Amino acid sequence: MSGQFLISLLSPTTGIILFAAFFVLWLKKRELSYILTASLGYLLTAFGFLFQDTFPPWLMNAQRIASNLCFLLGVATILVAPLQRNKIAIPWISMSTTLLSAMAILVWFLLVSPNLVARIAVASIALNLMIFLPLKQFSSGMQNRFSDRLLLWVMIFSLAIFIIRPLMAFWTPDGTDTYNALDQSTYWGLVHFSFIVMAITMAIALMVSVSLDLMDDLKKEAITDSLSKLSNRRGFEEGAEQALQRSKTNATISVLLLADLDRFKSINDLYGHGTGDRVIRDFGQIIQSLSDNTTVAGRIGGEEFAILLPESSHESAQAFADNLREQFQQLYLDNPEFTSSTPTTSIGLVSSNQNTETTLSKMLNQADKALYSAKNKGRNRVQWYQD
Ligand code: GH3
Ligand code: MG
Ligand code: MG
Repeated sequence: MSGQFLISLLSPTTGIILFAAFFVLWLKKRELSYILTASLGYLLTAFGFLFQDTFPPWLMNAQRIASNLCFLLGVATILVAPLQRNKIAIPWISMSTTLLSAMAILVWFLLVSPNLVARIAVASIALNLMIFLPLKQFSSGMQNRFSDRLLLWVMIFSLAIFIIRPLMAFWTPDGTDTYNALDQSTYWGLVHFSFIVMAITMAIALMVSVSLDLMDDLKKEAITDSLSKLSNRRGFEEGAEQALQRSKTNATISVLLLADLDRFKSINDLYGHGTGDRVIRDFGQIIQSLSDNTTVAGRIGGEEFAILLPESSHESAQAFADNLREQFQQLYLDNPEFTSSTPTTSIGLVSSNQNTETTLSKMLNQADKALYSAKNKGRNRVQWYQD
């Protein structure tokens, strides 16, 4: 077994190891289908090298066509994985047109008018396009997270590697006319080297993205209430503090609503804890349906909810509270399951303009006083805080 042969195994081995790593990761996290995509991409590139370097020649050297096809398809598949992760549309039409045209031209320069340099040029242009097309699509649809920027830069880096590579074919005069010479040329070494660098860099960027996504999920889970799907107390306080700070900077008014479900103990006693839970879930859903992307809402106690409406007005906050109270009551009025008493809510409101130096804890206190007064006045009502 020659050293040359062993070196030629480096690229397919890299491809197979990365295929296995991503495949095992995917088996553990099946919902992340882009990991499966990446693993298949690496497998295809490994076959691309095996067909070219290690398999015995096929009829009419067809293994070179299979090799080009696997390599182009493999690199394209790896580059499509970031798009899939970010739910960005894959440019199927332009990518498959590029692949089919390239394959047709490669077959021409292999069988009809054999020309190795032309084949290297065509394969390189096609490869650059297979990276450029998903890269362009990714750059227009990506978010501004660290992981997205990392993936973008690694995609740009991959493109740069494969743009430089074919230039070397013409700079290194050795061995671009016969296949045996090609195997030993600087260019062929560069093909392996550039692939390994690209494959490993992309793999690291994808692995980092997977880890950062998992950390984000854990953080989200730690501040989310699983029953109401709103934030929990910690999440609400974090979000509300930030929103309040922004509203102070912009000198706008924020309104805090504190809602507590009425006589909830008796709802549980009458209909059971399961029904009580469902009512809490319904309430969370109504809050969500009334919210926009500036609203900060959380379940801060058993059947107690806080909602901060940043950059709001007295009127729009009043409308929010009225809608919440009415829609919640309406949900159970004609429901035969709730025979003796139907769930309702009392809401206390306070606006931040009453005291420019106000803090979240002060507002929570004041809204609680307003809520207490709504309860005292007979429940199922909305009450503003009064000094
Ligand atoms: P009011 O607020 O109108 O004064 O009366 P209340 O009966 O709602 O008063 P209280 O705050 O004393 O009781 C709240 C009840 O909410 C007690 C508890 O059994 C129930 N509760 C708290 N968390 C949950 C929950 O997650 N699920 C269910 N089903 N019930 C809960
Ligand atoms: Mg209550
Ligand atoms: Mg309560």
